[in-house]
Amino acid sequence: MKRILVTGGAGFIGSHLCERLLNEGNEVVCLDNYFTGSKRNIIHLMDNHYFEVVRHDVTHPYFIEVDEIYNLACPASPVHYQYNPIKTIKTSVMGAINMLGLAKRIRAKILQASTSEVYGDPLVHPQTEDYWGNVNPIGVRSCYDEGKRCAESLFVNYERQNGVRIKIIRIFNTYGPRMHPQDGRVVSNFIVQALKGEDITIFGDGKQTRSFQYVDDLVEGMIRMMDTRDEFEGPVNIGNPNEFTMLELANEVLRLTNSKSKLVFLPLPEDDPTQRKPDISLAKKELNGWEPEIQLAEGLKKTIDYFDNLLREGI
Ligand code: NAD
Ligand code: UDP
Repeated sequence: MKRILVTGGAGFIGSHLCERLLNEGNEVVCLDNYFTGSKRNIIHLMDNHYFEVVRHDVTHPYFIEVDEIYNLACPASPVHYQYNPIKTIKTSVMGAINMLGLAKRIRAKILQASTSEVYGDPLVHPQTEDYWGNVNPIGVRSCYDEGKRCAESLFVNYERQNGVRIKIIRIFNTYGPRMHPQDGRVVSNFIVQALKGEDITIFGDGKQTRSFQYVDDLVEGMIRMMDTRDEFEGPVNIGNPNEFTMLELANEVLRLTNSKSKLVFLPLPEDDPTQRKPDISLAKKELNGWEPEIQLAEGLKKTIDYFDNLLREGI
C-alpha cells in the first residue's frame, strides 16, 4: 500500500484521481483550500478509512510523509484563474516550490498537472512536446500560462539540482462529471445552458477548435505516467486528439440533450487560442500504449446525466 498526497484533490480531476487511487488499494491524503473544489466532490469517499482530507493552501509549506505526490492545486477555468490572477501565479509557483521541497525532503516521487496552455495560441499543429509555445506573457491568460510554465521550470530544476524524481504531464481540455457548473468552461456551459433551455453562448465565430478528453482517460494516463521508469520525466501530452470546433460541440450537446436552445454569438475573449490538438505519440510509446478510449458522444452523455441530476437537486 502506497501513501499518496493529491493537492487539489477536492476539485474536478482531483476527486476522480483520489477515487481511483483508493480503489487500487492506496492510502490517499487529499489537500485542498476549496477555492474551486468542493466537499461534495469527495463526500462519497469520506467513509473510507484510508482517505484523509486536509484543508490547506499550497502557497504555504505543508509537511507529511508520503510515497508519491500528485500536484493538481490550481484553478483551471479562465473565469476562476482570472478572478485573482496574482493568487493564481502564487498557487502555481509557490505551490510547486512547496511541494517540490517536500518531495526533496521525504524523497517522494512528484507529478505536475501542467497544461496545453503552455503552448499558448499554438503555431504548430497538432502540438508536440518539443514545441516551445506561443504565449503572450502579459495577456489576461498569462497568470495561468506563465504560472504553469514556471512550475515546469521548477520541476526540471529540482530534478537537475537535487535529483528529485519528477513527472510532468500536459493536460488538454478535460471534461466530465464534477466539473463546477459555474466555472465558465465550454463543456459545462453548453450542457447547463442546453438543459435549462437557455441560449448557448458561442464566443467569437465558434470556429476555434479544442480536443476534448473524458476525465477517466486522463486519470488512467496520470497513473501510468507516475508508474513509468525514473528516467522518463516528460513532459508528455495527455489528451484526446479528436478535434472539434465550438460550433460542432454546441450542436452535439443540443442533439444529445434534445434541447431547443438557440446559439448566440458573443465576443471572443482576449488571447483565446484558435486551435488545439495534442500529438499523443509520446504518451502511446511511454505509457504502455495508452490512448483515450471514451469518445465525445459517450463522454458527453455521462456528463449530461451528471448535470441533469445536479439541476434536479436545485444545485
Ligand atoms: P478544479 O478547479 O476543479 O480543481 C483545482 C483544485 O485545486 C480545486 O479543488 C481547488 O479548490 C484547488 N486549489 C486551488 N488553489 C489552491 C490552493 N492555493 N491551495 C490548495 N488547493 C487549491 O480544476 P481541474 O479541472 O480539476 O484541474 C486540476 C488541475 O489540472 C489543475 O492544476 C489544472 O491546471 C490542471 N489542468 C486541467 C485541465 C482541464 O481541462 N480540466 C487542463 C489542463 C490542466
Ligand atoms: N467558449 C465558448 N462559449 C462558452 C465558453 C467558452 O464559445 O460559453 C469557448 C472559448 O472561447 C474557447 C473554448 O470555448 O475558445 C474553450 O474554452 P474553455 O474556457 O473551456 O477552455 P480553454 O479556452 O482554456 O481551452
